[in-house]
Amino acid sequence: MSDCIFCAMQQGKIPFVEVFSSDNLFAFLDIGPLNHGHVLIVPKKHYANMFDMPSELGCELLSTMQLLGKAIIEATGAGGLNVVQNNFSPAGQAVFHVHWHLIPRFEGDGLLKWTPGKYDHNEQMLKLAAEISRAMK
Ligand SMILES: [Zn+2]
Repeated sequence: MSDCIFCAMQQGKIPFVEVFSSDNLFAFLDIGPLNHGHVLIVPKKHYANMFDMPSELGCELLSTMQLLGKAIIEATGAGGLNVVQNNFSPAGQAVFHVHWHLIPRFEGDGLLKWTPGKYDHNEQMLKLAAEISRAMK
């Protein structure tokens, strides 16, 4: 796509600091890292989001994320790692070329706080689970 920053990077129009490249994927340091060592992994072909990406790419993606995640932990001395992937604007997607964030985490770094909500009653959960199951068919 002509106005896509990740496609422009692939075409050599925008510089980036690469950490990995294969026929189908590339990974680089995020220029606005949540922690140092925050890496993005991106399919080389343009897919807007996870739902547009062929599932056949999933195996290579996961095995690469496993290698990359372990390498980030080793290189940064992190105690943990988040994998974050956003689809559509309400979920925080800002670049509409599917990508995964691998974010090294350190005890007490204060990032990505999770505030759990709750359901009003069990029937609400059962109804929603049934609707999701039905929508998968
Ligand atoms: Zn793109």
